[in-house]
This record gives sequence, structure tokens and C-alpha cells, in this order.
Amino acid sequence: MGRRRAKAQKVVKKKKPVMLTEFKCPFCNHEGAVECKIDYEKESGSLECRVCGASYSATVNYLSEPIDIFSEWIDHCEAEDAEDKDARARGDDDGYGAFADDDDDDEPLGKRQRVE
Ligand SMILES: [Zn+2]
Repeated sequence: MGRRRAKAQKVVKKKKPVMLTEFKCPFCNHEGAVECKIDYEKESGSLECRVCGASYSATVNYLSEPIDIFSEWIDHCEAEDAEDKDARARGDDDGYGAFADDDDDDEPLGKRQRVE
């Protein structure tokens, strides 16, 4: 993910920072329910869902953006989920689960840029 914004485009519309701070909750699936706060001085970032109260916090650096913390959270959830599935699969593994493994990590995040 090494994209840079070196070129500033001329935008005559409203000037608004293009920083996403609201995301879809991975637990209750509410669009825009997860709010991200970053404290760059304390190098800590946190996410919290207004709807179900799910939360996550992470260490950040001055380059971190809310989307980074959110992706980290998702990765974290998927990792736990995978462990869970793994444990379950051991008990019941008769050709099922061939399509249960279709998690395309990054893609859905890109589609969400329209918010704001
Ligand atoms: Zn939620």
C-alpha cells in the first residue's frame, strides 16, 4: 500500500480532508457505526462501534490513518475467526467448507470510500 499523494488536484468544491473516520462494523454490520479516534501524541488509536459497542485499540505512528487501524482490526477479527473455524473444522470435515474460505480481505474497504 504505498500510495502517495504528491500531486494536489485542483478541486474547486468544498475543501474537506479525505480521511475516513467512520466504518462499517464487522460485528453488527452497521454502515458508518464504527468511529475512529487517533491520538498521535500518545501514539494510540481506537475504534468503537456506536451500535454494538465493539471496540479495538492499536498503536499508531504519525503516518497511520483511521483506515489503517480499521484494516488491522479486520485482520485481527479474521485471524480469530479463522482459528475458530479451524477448531470447528477438525470435528466436522466432510467436504463442506470449500466455499467457507472466501475472504477477500482488502477489497470491500476500497468500495467504502464514497462515505462523506
Ligand atoms: Zn457494531
